[in-house]
Amino acid sequence: MAFQTAVDIAKQVASGSLSATTVLEEHLSRITEREGEVHAFNLVTTESARATAQAIDESVAKGRPVGPLAGVPIALKDNMCTRGVPTTCSSKILEGWKPPYDATVVTRLAAAGAVFVGKTNLDEFAMGSSTENSAFGPTRNPLDTSRVPGGSSGGSAAAVAAGFSAASLGSDTGGSIRQPAALCGLVGVKPTYGVVSRQGLVAFASSLDQIGPFTHTVADAALLMEVIAGHDENDSTSLPQPAPSLTAVLDRGVKGMRIGRITDLPEGCEPEVLTRLDEAFETLRRAGATIVDITLPSLSYGLTAYYLVAPAEASSNLARYDGVRYGLRVDAPDLNAMYAATRSQGFGPEVKRRIMLGTYALSAGYFDAYYGKALKVRRLLADDFSRAYSSCDVILTPTSPTVAFKLGEKTNDPLTMYLCDVFTIPTNLVGHAAMSVPFGKGAHDLPVGVQVLAPALGEEQMFMVAAELERGR
Ligand code: GLN
Repeated sequence: MAFQTAVDIAKQVASGSLSATTVLEEHLSRITEREGEVHAFNLVTTESARATAQAIDESVAKGRPVGPLAGVPIALKDNMCTRGVPTTCSSKILEGWKPPYDATVVTRLAAAGAVFVGKTNLDEFAMGSSTENSAFGPTRNPLDTSRVPGGSSGGSAAAVAAGFSAASLGSDTGGSIRQPAALCGLVGVKPTYGVVSRQGLVAFASSLDQIGPFTHTVADAALLMEVIAGHDENDSTSLPQPAPSLTAVLDRGVKGMRIGRITDLPEGCEPEVLTRLDEAFETLRRAGATIVDITLPSLSYGLTAYYLVAPAEASSNLARYDGVRYGLRVDAPDLNAMYAATRSQGFGPEVKRRIMLGTYALSAGYFDAYYGKALKVRRLLADDFSRAYSSCDVILTPTSPTVAFKLGEKTNDPLTMYLCDVFTIPTNLVGHAAMSVPFGKGAHDLPVGVQVLAPALGEEQMFMVAAELERGR
C-alpha cells in the first residue's frame, strides 16, 4: 500500500486543503487495526498527538505560519528523551523514568510542526539487529509478520512501513537505521557524525551514535534532515555548520559522478541482493555516472573492531544505571548488593553480554590487546576510505547481506546476528554518512536495500545518488 509522504502531508496541511487532525486520525486508525500484531510502539501518545494536530489546524485557520513538517505524524525511537513522557530504551532498568527535558531533535521536530504519535520499540539500549532483544517483546515486520523488522530501530521502521506514522527517527550506532530500513523497504539515513545533535539521545556508544530519519521517500528523508540537523550548542560533538540543504539537490542527477564498487566485498550475501546491487550500478551508469573499482582491505575487520569499541563505550555509559539515579531499584541489605540486584534484574542478556565484553576489553591487562588494537583498526579503516575517496565520490554496497529473516532464526547465536552489520558498521567507525535506499525485491519477494556511502559531510552527493536510485528502481 502506498502511504502519503511527509512532503505531501506538510504541503496540504499548510495550504489548508487537508487537516492535521484528519491525517492523524488516519494514522491512529491504522495503529488500532494492526499494532496488536506488529508491536511497533512502547507507547502511543494519542491524546497529546490530537492536541498538537488541533493546534496546527487552528494556526492554519488563523493564517499563522506553520513549519515545514506541519501535521506530519512522526514516531520516535524510545531511546530519545521526551519531557514527562516515559523513555525506556526497551529496558526494565529505566522503569518509571520520565526525562525532565526533550532531546534536541524532538524540540526541532516539534517546532517544525510534527505530530508525535508515540515511542517505538527497540533492542534493549539499541543493542541488536532484530528488535528481539526488547524487554517488552519483539516487533514484527509489517510486510511479513513471521519476520523481523531488523534492528535496533525496528519499531521506528515498522511504524513507517505499517503506515502508523509518515516518518520516524531512529539511532544508528552500527547500522540500526540503515539495516531495518532495508528490511522494511524504507529510506534510512545515518548522517555524518556530529551533523545531528545527540543531546537527549540515551548513549550507547558515544563515538558512534547518530540520530537519523526513516521515510518512504528520499525527498522525505531530505526534508527531515533539514529540520533535525545543524549545530547544537548542547552537544559538544556537534559540528559548527548549519543543516545541509538537501531537498534542493535531489533533481541534480549523477552525470559525471564517480561511483565506487568494492571489488573485495565480504562474502555471505544472498544472490538476489548482489543482483540488485549490480542493477543499482547499472542504473547510475545509465544516468551518466562512472563506475570505479576500489578496494577496502580492512572493511571486514570493522565488525571485530566495532564489537570491542561499542561494548567498551557501552560498559562505561551504562554504569550510570545503578538503582539510585534512574528507574528501577531492587532493594538489598547494602549498597553493593543493591547495585548487583538492580543491574541483574534490570538488564537483559544481550546488554549484560556487552557490558562484560566491554569491561574486559578495557581492563588493565587487556586494554592494549583489545581496545587499543580496535582503535588501530579504526584508523586503518579511515585510511582505506580516504584512499578510496580519492578516486570516487560515493560507494555502493548492499545494506544487509540478506532480506528480513524469521523471528527466532538468529536469537540463539549472537555471532550470526552480529554479521548482519558487516556493511553498515564501518561507516560508524569512521564517522561518515551513509543511507539505505529500497531497490527492488529479493528472496520471498521481500525488499532489498542498497547502501550509499559518502565521506564525512558528503550528504549532498549521497542524496543526489539516492534520488537517482529511487527514480531508476
Ligand atoms: N546491530 C548493532 C549492534 O547490535 C548495531 C546497533 C545499533 O546501531 N544501535 O550493536
